[in-house]
Amino acid sequence: MSLLALENLTVRFNTPDGVVRAVNGLSLELAPGATLGIVGESGSGKSQTALAVMGLLAGNAEVSGSVRYDGQELLGLPAGKMNALRGAEIGMIFQDPMTCLNPYLRIGPQMAEVLVQHRGLAWAAALDASAQMLDAVRVPDARARLRQYPHELSGGQRQRVMIAMTLLCHPKLLIADEPTTALDVTIQAQILDLLAGLRREMGLAILLITHDLGVVAELCDEALVMYAGQTMEQGPTRQLLGRATHPYTRGLLRSRPSAGLAANGPLQAIPGAPPDLSRLPPGCPFQPRCRYAEPVCSERMPQLQRDGDLRRACHLRPAD
Ligand code: SF4
Repeated sequence: MSLLALENLTVRFNTPDGVVRAVNGLSLELAPGATLGIVGESGSGKSQTALAVMGLLAGNAEVSGSVRYDGQELLGLPAGKMNALRGAEIGMIFQDPMTCLNPYLRIGPQMAEVLVQHRGLAWAAALDASAQMLDAVRVPDARARLRQYPHELSGGQRQRVMIAMTLLCHPKLLIADEPTTALDVTIQAQILDLLAGLRREMGLAILLITHDLGVVAELCDEALVMYAGQTMEQGPTRQLLGRATHPYTRGLLRSRPSAGLAANGPLQAIPGAPPDLSRLPPGCPFQPRCRYAEPVCSERMPQLQRDGDLRRACHLRPAD
């Protein structure tokens, strides 16, 4: 059975400028211990998907469809039960740990509080367990770190503290929203190594949200390419990176610095910009930017179709 299953998830926001359709009929499954990367440009609905799973959408959101965790429907779950799941069963880390760490509190009390609240540990035991978890995520001098404030740590150390805090209750599912975007490439590689190791050691399932296909390649068994709140292409990461046929996935692949910077040439980019989610075009949402668009593309949204190991939503036949 899947640990996490989304079925026809739809997220809309009522705003003064109209209804913003952030997620539009998204379905996916994540098995225990598996890793799935959701990749796409800013505004593709990746983060709103993660927030819908966590029950953390803004108050003006309307959500429908199904989000099942370990067989339990999360949409509509009472706040108390959702609170108990968050942290204990499902953990989430963000791009900027400073948005989650309290700058006025030392690291120790912030971490220990999690175990006191979720596991009922005594304060001293919670501090011991916090130090052990900092060791596990390879923060040097863990005991000393407990007495420091977030601003006294480097960016990489703060992200490790955030990961340690998230894993204190040994969740089965970790949602990582752009966990390495704010870090330099060396620290980014260390954090990805750490997540891969934690996955092996703790049997964690990881749902990774990123705009970077390279990060997906490092960490994820499966990849899902999202655009305008919908799945464009999905499948095993190796196959998706090696033989993607969807024009949007191919555009993302071409715009990676390593692929697009040949002989000091300019970085290739997908022309245009992601659509205004309150005014989505009819048919395929990628149509205004797609060099292969045909008349049918602006008339009908293509359905997800299987193509070998991959599934893709495009009117273009793979051999075209
Ligand atoms: Fe391009 Fe048409 Fe395929 Fe959309 S359906 S990606 S517009 S070819």
